[in-house]
Amino acid sequence: MPRVGVRPAAYRFCRRMPFTFAEGTLISRPMISRTTTPSDLSASVARLRDLVAEAASILPFTGAGISTECGIPDFRSPGGLWTKTQPIPFDAFMASARTRAESWRRRFAMQAHFGDARPGRGHRALASLYRAGKVPAVVTQNIDNLHQMSGIAAADVVELHGNTTYATCLACERRYELDWVKARFEESGEQAPECACGGYIKSATVSFGQAMPVAAMARAEELVDRCDLFVAIGSSLVVWPAAGFPLRAKKRGARLVIVNREATDFDEIADLVIRQDIGDALAPFIAD
Ligand code: NAD
Repeated sequence: MPRVGVRPAAYRFCRRMPFTFAEGTLISRPMISRTTTPSDLSASVARLRDLVAEAASILPFTGAGISTECGIPDFRSPGGLWTKTQPIPFDAFMASARTRAESWRRRFAMQAHFGDARPGRGHRALASLYRAGKVPAVVTQNIDNLHQMSGIAAADVVELHGNTTYATCLACERRYELDWVKARFEESGEQAPECACGGYIKSATVSFGQAMPVAAMARAEELVDRCDLFVAIGSSLVVWPAAGFPLRAKKRGARLVIVNREATDFDEIADLVIRQDIGDALAPFIAD
């Protein structure tokens, strides 16, 4: 059941943040209860095909689940990374050189996953719909750059949690490549490097407690308000702002589809829930 509450005054990336709508409307019951959850993959694909055909503007909203078949583990699934290691909040990164070094150590340890990953079937399906003019842009919580690699223009990938394939200075916003950071890290005996301006260099991702990117949030909200089909793919939909989007889209009259191998809090208000593997569900939409 969706939770009800008050949206934070400033956008911050936070866990299980209660939410409301921009207009202040509170909704505590499903708006429409006509969810279908076909047990069979081909029935799911057929229903999704109909919804895609009927839609003029589809907004895919993607989470870590779309990239698991590419070799990048998600964090929340059973056995996921967060069952082993807790993420480093932004305040902790800022407060301690030792924590900044630990953050970089973890990032380089993940390089085997992120560095070799190539777009999967879900990415390729969305890129096909983008090329067909059905999808104006993708809003993603992912930080892996795979939507861009699948052929979607970088300007049309709205990254809510940033991008882990490069780094930036938190003070002057200068961009740094990871190879450069790694070389400095190793030659300094594993000290986190700093920018020439004195600012801390951090992977270009949004940590818990860090301000959300304002422009990306505004673009995402605009896309949510314009779409007539919102498709949440591989997101557990438990963190703010992700949790607000399906409801917002629904309130604006869009249809809602959720593709996730596990149940989410929003299944009740969805028009279609596909509780299947993302690659299997979206592969039929690959056009190349
Ligand atoms: P999340 O909350 O989006 O959870 C992933 C969801 O995908 C889960 O609900 C899981 O049931 C589902 N899922 C996983 N593989 C699937 C599959 N093959 N088919 C169907 N459903 C599948 O994300 P998270 O893992 O909790 O990560 C939290 C944050 O950490 C993300 O929002 C992101 O910023 C970052 N992250 C990014 C990546 C990436 O860029 N690939 C990977 C891990 C974490």
